[in-house]
Amino acid sequence: MIERRTIPAVETLLQYPQSTELVLLYGRPLVLDCIRSVLADIREHPNDDKAVPENEAILQLVVQRLETWLRPTLIPVINATGVILHTNLGRAPMSQAALQALSQASTSYCTLEYNLKHGGRGTRSEHVDSLLTRLTGAESALVVNNNAAAVLLVLSALANRKKVVISRTQLVEIGGGFRVPDVMAQSGAKLVEVGTTNRVHLSDYEAALQDSAALVVRAHHSNFKIIGFTSEPPLVELAALAHQHGIPVLDDLGSGALLDTARFGLAHEPMVQESVQAGVDVICFSGDKLLGGPQAGIIVGRKDLMIRIKKHPLGRAMRADKLCLAALSATILHYLKNEAESQIPVWQMISMTSAELQRRAQDWVEALQVGEVIGGLSTVGGGSLPEETFPTSLLALAVPQPNRFLAKLRNLHIPIIGRIENERVVFDPRTVFPEQDPVLLAGIRKAMTGTI
Ligand SMILES: *Cc1c(COP(=O)(O)O)cnc(C)c1O
Repeated sequence: MIERRTIPAVETLLQYPQSTELVLLYGRPLVLDCIRSVLADIREHPNDDKAVPENEAILQLVVQRLETWLRPTLIPVINATGVILHTNLGRAPMSQAALQALSQASTSYCTLEYNLKHGGRGTRSEHVDSLLTRLTGAESALVVNNNAAAVLLVLSALANRKKVVISRTQLVEIGGGFRVPDVMAQSGAKLVEVGTTNRVHLSDYEAALQDSAALVVRAHHSNFKIIGFTSEPPLVELAALAHQHGIPVLDDLGSGALLDTARFGLAHEPMVQESVQAGVDVICFSGDKLLGGPQAGIIVGRKDLMIRIKKHPLGRAMRADKLCLAALSATILHYLKNEAESQIPVWQMISMTSAELQRRAQDWVEALQVGEVIGGLSTVGGGSLPEETFPTSLLALAVPQPNRFLAKLRNLHIPIIGRIENERVVFDPRTVFPEQDPVLLAGIRKAMTGTI
């Protein structure tokens, strides 16, 4: 009987020159771990004829496994979907100034909580608060981790164990587990629903306010649209009514546009400044939706209420870090300097002209020598302007297996995310940065010639 090859010892494998090279590259502990993990697999999952692979083959497996272990999974991609705020692709890409501020704050010491004038402790909120109040007209501001945290904090600080009035038209689920009624329950607030699924009147609120509520909440629909026989009272009337009863209003704006989207041929997305002017007491919105900055939850509002919110212990658990504050300040400065449209990628994409889009798509076709330019639709996405699309020009490619083609593009070193429309693979120049064009074109060529 032929003697079977036994599983080699770790030490034997370490003697090979390949192993020496791996140890130099990755360090001995990781290489050892990896060899052990490969040997364990061979032991536990023998192949059909129960043969142990040759040592060289085992080392090949080790190399492959090390590469898998070390390959980063959070990597840049090219977004050719035309969805500007693509939540799965990281929402808003940031401006160069935001990147610079973030990088400076992160690789050096900074004035996060240091007052240079007095040479002592400062507050982290002051870096952004004054910019936000100047921009929105609100009295006071606070930045936390994200908007979900902002809403939870405000409710916890102002309405714990108290009644909160909200319309049934606004008991929304935003996605990613954010459901308005659940957040309210978590904060300890008691939900008082008014109106019906499609309609709510001022008189519905009036009836509910007779009964000692702590807060009236308005939540932006964000990602859906109620159409047909619908109505909600204007915010300014709701605020006036609540104030007659001495009750403050919280507006969860979601996206919180600071520029008017209607200027770019889109529907009008409610703006932060409008809520402030309508007399709303506290307003929450995201930093990485239409604002175009880092992930953050921004709270602006009346000073006395903001003091209570800032003092709540949950605030400490949700506070924004220095990277977020640095990037957010730089982003807000673009608005103050009236350069948001030219400096913030989200607004550059929204304001792109049809001539520009047409030219980009045409350039792609000419460079590739295949496909054609067709009319299509981009969307804002990210819980802003539901169902709202705007015209764009697309590069359309007819390929035998569109889904396989998309998979090949996702498998590239810098993955390209496209979509399928009428059985063709399409690419929208609106969300592709011009400097990404060479990589995009090389990737498409590679997928077409089958070299991946
Ligand atoms: C997006 C959104 C949220 C959640 O914001 P995050 O910043 O993702 O936490 C909450 N409320 C509304 C209305 C939204 O649109």
